[in-house]
Amino acid sequence: MDTRAKLGLLSQAACYDDCTALEGDALAAGRGLFAAAGAEPRAGRDLFPCISHVTTPWGERKAILKILQTSACENNCNYCAFRAGRDIPRAHLTPDELARNFDLMYRAGVVEGLFLSSGVVGTVRTMDEMLATVELVRLQYGFRGYVHLKLLPGVDAAHIARAVELADRVSANLEAPTPERLAVLAPQKRLAELIGPLRAAAQLIHQQGAQILRRPPSDARRLTPAAWGHARLGISTQFVVGPAGESDRELLTTAQMLYREAGLARAYYSAFSPVRNTPLEAAPPTDPRREHRLYQADWLLRYYQFDVEELPFDAAGQLRPEVDPKLAWAQAHPERFPVEVNAAPVSELLRVPGIGPHAARAIVAARRQAALRELGDLRKLGARADRAAAFITLAGKRPPHQLPLPLWCPPLSCGGMQCDL
Ligand code: SF4
Repeated sequence: MDTRAKLGLLSQAACYDDCTALEGDALAAGRGLFAAAGAEPRAGRDLFPCISHVTTPWGERKAILKILQTSACENNCNYCAFRAGRDIPRAHLTPDELARNFDLMYRAGVVEGLFLSSGVVGTVRTMDEMLATVELVRLQYGFRGYVHLKLLPGVDAAHIARAVELADRVSANLEAPTPERLAVLAPQKRLAELIGPLRAAAQLIHQQGAQILRRPPSDARRLTPAAWGHARLGISTQFVVGPAGESDRELLTTAQMLYREAGLARAYYSAFSPVRNTPLEAAPPTDPRREHRLYQADWLLRYYQFDVEELPFDAAGQLRPEVDPKLAWAQAHPERFPVEVNAAPVSELLRVPGIGPHAARAIVAARRQAALRELGDLRKLGARADRAAAFITLAGKRPPHQLPLPLWCPPLSCGGMQCDL
């Protein structure tokens, strides 16, 4: 198999792994490693099938080479197209091959970053190869842009330390929120072996005092060596949603624990799509609306000062797929409304449907100058005024409003990131 063919095969395998929020991808045929081999490449992938377009944490659209070091694997995760023993073409790139081809793509202006994951052929051996690839990319070819490196299950402390030095973001996929759920998905994996590397990476980041970047560097090519790497974009993880029978409450409780205790920067929720000739091939695909609601609820945990126990779960611990979780919470708590926009603290403004963190801060700044009296004033400040109208007063008066309808956005049209919920 020639190098181009290997690049195509190994990148198709990785292209749905959620390293950053993807725009408009919810209707793709599954996401994550488990879906890749069964999914049709999307239109436009023919020329450069190994390139994914992603949105960075600061909202820029970037072309990323998302690729596996190898699609061979000794594990037998029940959802995965690359599980051991499944009859599919496998490929492997040496560190030299992968780094050289990445450099060529970067110099040709085709890609601006690298996301590197892998099947497992011995954790130590595979991590050695992945780190050797990134070392070549960084030190031999001098690349200073975005690198996201996956930590394999059970990775040792030395590998974690080197990964944190070299990559801008490191991640380890938990796949499931509890050991029991993980046993359904991946009998060979242990949750402790997945959480442990995340905690160790977070501790290293904390010790080195790395500044998590909130803004893009002005020019990645001109960054000094000290500016790249050091896991400055933090750590992330991913869950497979659906086939283990886990509840949304379980997923979000584990995510909240990781946000609070392990310094997690981002959790990804990947709706399951069955793959032929795997033990879960008969399991139903997960409704993409569920993934979307999980992203919205996760956003509430990270940016809206919600605790997971406040989220509007039903008796089975699920969010309602047809309703925005922030609206569902507001409708279940009429005693908290209306909120007077000219007097409420930010924490109360954030509970109003249609007012997000940016708009809440803008409201607090603007009302120091003059009272806000019209819905138009809120619109100018970035709020979704029509959505907020039923839940607020403006200078003591209720603005005109209709009773809110359940809110439905096209699944992940905003990558779960952009809505002012
Ligand atoms: S470890 Fe599991 S999910 Fe990862 S490639 Fe191997 S079988 Fe697939």
